[in-house]
Amino acid sequence: MLLIHGGEAVADAPVLRTGGVPLVPDGFVWPNCRNCGGPMQFLAHLPLDLGAVAVFFCQNDPGMCDDWDATAGANRAFVFRGRLAAATVPDEGETLLGAVTALRPYPADAPTEEPVLGRLGGEADWIQGDETPDCPSCTARMTFTAELEEGSDFATSANFGGGGRGYIFHCAPCSEAAFLWQG
Ligand SMILES: [Zn+2]
Ligand SMILES: [Zn+2]
Repeated sequence: MLLIHGGEAVADAPVLRTGGVPLVPDGFVWPNCRNCGGPMQFLAHLPLDLGAVAVFFCQNDPGMCDDWDATAGANRAFVFRGRLAAATVPDEGETLLGAVTALRPYPADAPTEEPVLGRLGGEADWIQGDETPDCPSCTARMTFTAELEEGSDFATSANFGGGGRGYIFHCAPCSEAAFLWQG
């Protein structure tokens, strides 16, 4: 399925979206970047069959932290299950995107006028080479979950280096998720 522009959403909407605030379980601690120490930016909320995938990456000093890398510690992806509620957003740092954008699943083979903002399931469409990460818990090759386009509006889009694409993976048995981007 494609993910097409589904209009604006409220910040804590329980829908597929980029931006807004993450929906998290009790006891959640906002992730800090292992490179610069600052709080990461919340990128996407993806409520899926395996759980709600929440993606964060560091934007405190763009270009300085290895936020494109799945294992460098400058991004985080989680799989959350059970009862979720809006997280408390840290007071400092680049923590939120400029807009909350709903992502609407749409058949890949049907014509649409709406901007395509990503894709759900299938195979990763790599810009560079295949960088499928291994699960941090069981070391198995992770399963492709979704990819996100950077978006055309500089004021509200994610920063994937200018025209890049973000990739999300999961390991269902371990409830692990991973993120990386390529430009
Ligand atoms: Zn950082
Ligand atoms: Zn695993």
